[in-house]
Amino acid sequence: MSAEVIYGKDLAQQLRQEMKEEVAQLEEQGIHPKLVVVIVGEDPASKSYVKGKQRASENVGMNSDLLELPEDTTEEKLLNIINDLNEDSSVHGILVQLPLPKQIDEQKVIEAIDPAKDVDGFHPINVGKLMTGQDTFYPCTPFGILVMLQRANISIEGKHVVIIGRSNLVGKPVGQLLLNENATVTYCHSRTKNLREHTKQADILIVAAGKAQLITGEDISEGTVVIDVGVNRVDGKLTGDVDFESAAQKASHITPVPKGVGPMTITMLLHNTIKAAKWIHKK
Ligand code: NAD
Repeated sequence: MSAEVIYGKDLAQQLRQEMKEEVAQLEEQGIHPKLVVVIVGEDPASKSYVKGKQRASENVGMNSDLLELPEDTTEEKLLNIINDLNEDSSVHGILVQLPLPKQIDEQKVIEAIDPAKDVDGFHPINVGKLMTGQDTFYPCTPFGILVMLQRANISIEGKHVVIIGRSNLVGKPVGQLLLNENATVTYCHSRTKNLREHTKQADILIVAAGKAQLITGEDISEGTVVIDVGVNRVDGKLTGDVDFESAAQKASHITPVPKGVGPMTITMLLHNTIKAAKWIHKK
C-alpha cells in the first residue's frame, strides 16, 4: 500500500483540544458558547448522531441542550420552538437533526432558523454567502473536508477536484468551498455518463454517493487524493463508497471509513458554534 492515510479522527481530536482552550478563554470573558440540538422522532441513527454531537460539545466545555420531541410533533410546534431559540440570547447555535417526519416541511424549518445561529450552514442566506465567497457558517461535512486537506498540506489551488454526488448537504457545498480555494471542479452524479473517464482525471476525488464499492483502484489514476465521504452498512460493518485496499495502492492520500471524514463533521459543528458565540458578542 502506497497511500498516506489521512485519519480525520486524529485531526478531529487535535482540533477539539484547540477548541477546548478557546472555549476556556471565552468563558473568562463571560461568553458561554451554547449549542441546542433538536430531534423529532425516534430514528435510531439520528438519535445516535445527536448524542454524539451533544457529547462532543460538552467535551470541549460548551453548554449544550438536547430537545427531544415526539414523532407526531406538528410543524407549527417546531417552528414555535425554533422561534423561541432564535430569541434566546444564551443560545448561539441551533441544529435541527434531519430528516424530519413527513408532516414537517424541512425547508421551512431550515429557513426559520436565524441565519446567525445556523451552525449547520443550510439556511439559504448562508448558502448564498458561501456561493459569493463571503465568510459564513459552512456546512460541517464539506468544511471538515476542506480543513482535512489543508491540514494534510494538500494544495487545492489549480487542482482538478472531481466530486461524486450533488446533494445540498455534501456534494454541492464541498465543490463551492473548493472552487473558492481556486480548484477546478467537476460534479458527477447518478446521471453522469462514463463516470470513470471523469474520476481518472481527478487530482482530488471526493466520493459522496452512498454506494459501497462505487470506486475502486481501477477508477483512479496514480497519485490521486481520495476522500471517501460515504457511510454504508454492509453485513453489519461500516464502510465507505471506496474500495480502500485497491484505491490505496494508487492514491497518494486516502481517508478511511470509519475514522475519516465522519469525526471531522462534528468537529466543524463545534467550530461553527464557537464562531456564532464570538459573532453575537461582537455585535
Ligand atoms: P444523497 O443521497 O443526498 O446524494 C447522493 C448523491 O450521489 C446524489 O447526488 C446522486 O446523484 C449521487 N449518486 C448516487 N449514486 C451514484 C452513482 N452510482 N454514480 C454517480 N453518482 C451517484 O446523499 P448525501 O447526503 O450527499 O450523502 C452521501 C453519502 O455521504 C452517504 O453515504 C452519507 O451517509 C454520507 N455522509 C457522510 C457524512 C459524514 O460525516 N461522514 C455526512 C453526510 C453524509
